[in-house]
Amino acid sequence: RAAKLTEIRDLPAITLDGTQVCLLANIEFPSEVASCLQRGAEGVGLYRTEFLYLGADREPTEEEQFQTYREVVNSLHDLPVIMRTLDLGADKVGSLQMLERESNPFLGLRSIRLSLRQPRIFRIQLRAMLRAASERTLKVMFPLVSTLHELRTARMVLRQVAEDLEEEGVPPPAKLEVGMMVEVPAAVLMLDHFIHEVDFISIGTNDLIQYTMAVDRGNEFVADLYSGHDPAVLRLIKQSIDIANQAQVEVSVCGEMSATPATALLLIGLGVRALSAPPAALPAVKQAIRSVRLEDWQQIASRIFDFDTAREVDAFLQARFSDLL
Ligand code: PEP
Ligand code: MG
Repeated sequence: RAAKLTEIRDLPAITLDGTQVCLLANIEFPSEVASCLQRGAEGVGLYRTEFLYLGADREPTEEEQFQTYREVVNSLHDLPVIMRTLDLGADKVGSLQMLERESNPFLGLRSIRLSLRQPRIFRIQLRAMLRAASERTLKVMFPLVSTLHELRTARMVLRQVAEDLEEEGVPPPAKLEVGMMVEVPAAVLMLDHFIHEVDFISIGTNDLIQYTMAVDRGNEFVADLYSGHDPAVLRLIKQSIDIANQAQVEVSVCGEMSATPATALLLIGLGVRALSAPPAALPAVKQAIRSVRLEDWQQIASRIFDFDTAREVDAFLQARFSDLL
């Protein structure tokens, strides 16, 4: 099976009835770019830059960040990369001193909230990204955006940093695109407003499930409630995809749901044309895409909302997926 998966590396992720899907990779370190390319990824859909902080006992300097981002950009050659700004806090704390002690960190000062509260750190990171993508395309993505005010403030900081750099004589990116993670139900509910202020969105199902179901994504005692197949979660995902597609704004899914072949097919049936998953998951997802007709999975996706529970959705999807095997 492994040999077969390597064989399909250079084949497109295209359904039997001719719809192409863009398969991207999630990475944490530059060294993972090689495995993305080996698995036939068409780019990086989620670069989790906070891992540079998590591995260190001090704050990385602008120069260190620049070198690291540059390495990712260079080793991808001309393939696109979505660089997500720091998503620290909650489950990603490492040994950092800058984080507050909070009694409810998943609902606390994390991700974009933390970056906006620590503008010095945020600006350094944005400088490093803009420099690393000088004269190339830069796709910046903000995590855990909950309000339009956060998005606008983050964009304003980015604009100021870009202007500073230009004054210093650093050539700007040839193209700058700004996107947001959709991973808080409030963002889904307001997405018809957000969508006009972004160039792309990426649905972060890991956190979207957590915040929709009010279930800590790492807590084994409530793990049975944590499901991307819960109809409530699926409604939010569908709503997000529909709004993005209607506005013709690029939408991808970068949570773990993209990594499970049957679920990935459901997402495609719901209208997504770009998935980002850990590199190791890509060949199996591609193989699944190449074995189905989009029309069939659109029909399956349309029936999913007849069910009341995650279990029923699981069973239905499993049955449809095993029909393929
Ligand atoms: C997500 O929340 O789905 C996501 C992709 O981001 P992370 O897992 O890094 O929180
Ligand atoms: Mg997340």
